[in-house]
Amino acid sequence: MKRIAVLTSGGDAPAMNAAVRSVARSAIFRDIEVVGVRRGYEGLLEGDLIPLTKSSVGGIIHRGGTILRTARSERFRRPEGINEALQQLKRFDIDGLVVVGGDGSFRGAWELVQRGFAVVGVPATIDNDIAGTDMTIGFDTALNTVLEAVKKIRDTASSHDRLFIIEVMGREAGFLALEVAVASGAEYVLVPERPVDLPRLCDKLHYARKRGKTHSLIVLAEGVMAAHELAGQLLDTGGYDSRITVLGHIQRGGSPSAFDAVLASRMGAAALTGLVEGQTGVMAAYRRGGMELVPLSLAWEQKKELNTELLDLVEKLSI
Ligand code: ATP
Repeated sequence: MKRIAVLTSGGDAPAMNAAVRSVARSAIFRDIEVVGVRRGYEGLLEGDLIPLTKSSVGGIIHRGGTILRTARSERFRRPEGINEALQQLKRFDIDGLVVVGGDGSFRGAWELVQRGFAVVGVPATIDNDIAGTDMTIGFDTALNTVLEAVKKIRDTASSHDRLFIIEVMGREAGFLALEVAVASGAEYVLVPERPVDLPRLCDKLHYARKRGKTHSLIVLAEGVMAAHELAGQLLDTGGYDSRITVLGHIQRGGSPSAFDAVLASRMGAAALTGLVEGQTGVMAAYRRGGMELVPLSLAWEQKKELNTELLDLVEKLSI
């Protein structure tokens, strides 16, 4: 392999830059040329490629967002778009590609793999909803960002006897909501994977109020419903005055946590090694503390299960 490319695609996630840096430096370490594709598959179609050097990926490991930018590409979803992308890869003499992104980006990568092009994925999403890997890059940072916000909300909530409904990201998965709920000591968590039990929620609020709790926190994954909708449905809040907070895009930004910077560095290096060793259609995965290459297809063929032990823990510890 003489020349490889790396791109970031789909929703951005903290530590994407750390992954790009790791792919680039690992390639340069092996005397392989490396180029960065700007704006994901859309940039690939437009031939928007830039050379990456040892120094051009310097000073980015700690930066949030992605220096390569990211995009969603409708054109790339169509067979003509995929063929056009393959032509661009050929035109730029690219022998292999590392795709840093979520499951949608991996489906796109799979289209290239099926047409004979070598691609390895690096799972990056703050949702942590990619099967095959215990963690995705960006999740730990987002978790810490949300936790910091919830701690601040808790301060003001307890000063005013308030119930706060905190809406966090997670359209289809409740990993972020669940871990935040455990880490912040929330009374209740609502995740898309479980049906909403409003009577039980109201009971818990009553109970919390009765035993003198000055505040109550409900962590709500956005995929369940919007915070204002839940507030509208909660006719009985046990006497608490209720407020809502929608954290929004603050959850995607920020400098990566130590865990994410290390994880992204490991995954980027593992992806490059995989490519060089002739692997394709796989992703770098974190499993039981180690790095493995697992099929990309796990991302859409399997559903990552929510940890029921953590769900039980929220229930048990908020008595
Ligand atoms: P996240 O879910 O965290 O936002 P993602 O990688 O899943 O990240 P998507 O918007 O689903 O984000 O996908 C990114 C891009 O991948 C799409 O804009 C599209 O270009 C490409 N893609 C997604 N699904 C397919 C598919 N089935 N075939 C070809 N390309 C696809």
